[in-house]
Amino acid sequence: MRSVYIETYGCQMNVADSELVASILRQAGYRIIPTPEEAEVILLNTCAVREHAEERVIGRASQLSGLRAHTPKLTLGILGCMAQHLAETLPQRAPFVDLVMGPDSYRRLPQLLAETAEETLLDLRLDREEDYQGIDPIRRQGVNAWVTIMRGCDRFCTFCIVPFVRGRERSVPAGEILRQVRVLTAEGYREVTLLGQTVNSYRDGQVDFAGLLRAVGQVDGLKRLRFTSPHPADFTPQLIDALAEIPQVCPGLHLPLQSGSDAQLERMRRGYTAAQYRALVAELRQRLPGLALTTDIIAGFCGESEEDFQQTLDLVGEIRFDSAFMFKYSPREGTFAHKKLEDDVPEATKTQRLERVIALQEGISWEINQQLVGQTVEVLVEGPSKRQNGQTRTFYGRSPQGKTVVFSQEVVANALVQVHIERASSHTLFGELAEP
Ligand code: SF4
Repeated sequence: MRSVYIETYGCQMNVADSELVASILRQAGYRIIPTPEEAEVILLNTCAVREHAEERVIGRASQLSGLRAHTPKLTLGILGCMAQHLAETLPQRAPFVDLVMGPDSYRRLPQLLAETAEETLLDLRLDREEDYQGIDPIRRQGVNAWVTIMRGCDRFCTFCIVPFVRGRERSVPAGEILRQVRVLTAEGYREVTLLGQTVNSYRDGQVDFAGLLRAVGQVDGLKRLRFTSPHPADFTPQLIDALAEIPQVCPGLHLPLQSGSDAQLERMRRGYTAAQYRALVAELRQRLPGLALTTDIIAGFCGESEEDFQQTLDLVGEIRFDSAFMFKYSPREGTFAHKKLEDDVPEATKTQRLERVIALQEGISWEINQQLVGQTVEVLVEGPSKRQNGQTRTFYGRSPQGKTVVFSQEVVANALVQVHIERASSHTLFGELAEP
């Protein structure tokens, strides 16, 4: 049995893909191990969304290739979005890599590993049909299971590399998703997160995303249902009804905004205006009481004037997100923005704008979390907290809104408990178990 170590970079889709790769390899007789030192095969599952991630991965692959000193037959592979994106240059930039494979080729991984030869092997076919039906990912221990319900993206936002490296959108049949969720709840998972690049454009024949949520909500044993990331332009009245009516749907949504300026949203080809986004948020908040909203913001995209950026700050201040992922724009080769738009915001301005939006958002996150002090929230326990508070062992879990809650009493993972919140930072709530 050859041993395999898989290291994952990037978004949740990639984490789910690594679980898929682990399953494919285990079925082919490989043994999955948690550290690289003893591995005969090392696979880095990569991300192309951010530039620095690529350099980090090449550096890491170079470092890991040093393990050939005591494992001469070590096979080193780069998988995923970055493999797809840098296909042509990777063999030169990282000649110590044996195998380069894009995200639609994983079924052929055992075959390619058996073939690994003198030259770097490449398999980068994008396959419009591949949805990895019938493969049950090997999930990391945890209380939440990720279920990929669609792959790829058809939106082609001008800054984004995803449609080029993950291919066109395709949905997994609803019956297969329901089968997976039933298996998961039978295994004891109480929370499931449905994953897709634009998860709410899901469609399998007559079943749209609203219909899928209603069907998944009927699965016995499922306590919490989440999904990420929905696209603001793909909400339908039926979907909002479903969100309001399915008791397991958690009141926490990640709703990428990117910019508050209509001119920038147009340049990004996001498919909505600031007013449409604002109206969607108002409706969601009216229909889903206690809704927590998170978002993504890009600072310094091509053509962004101070006035455009001020509109982003104004909208962030008006909507008051619970938290946000905020980035400086950096062009990705192959995208429309890289080819056709000028990256004309000076680096120093990008940095300064990013700092301004982070400062604003951190303050808002802190204020929102302070309002929860004194309240009792339901927490699905995940386990011991990674960061230990001095000598005290702490435990953590998540509220229905998806906020991290830390408390000191030991409770087994997967339990649902009530926690009284005593203090809060911008990112975490701290409390103690409420009296039963
Ligand atoms: S919706 Fe836009 S940002 Fe999201 S994955 Fe598709 S192209 Fe990228």
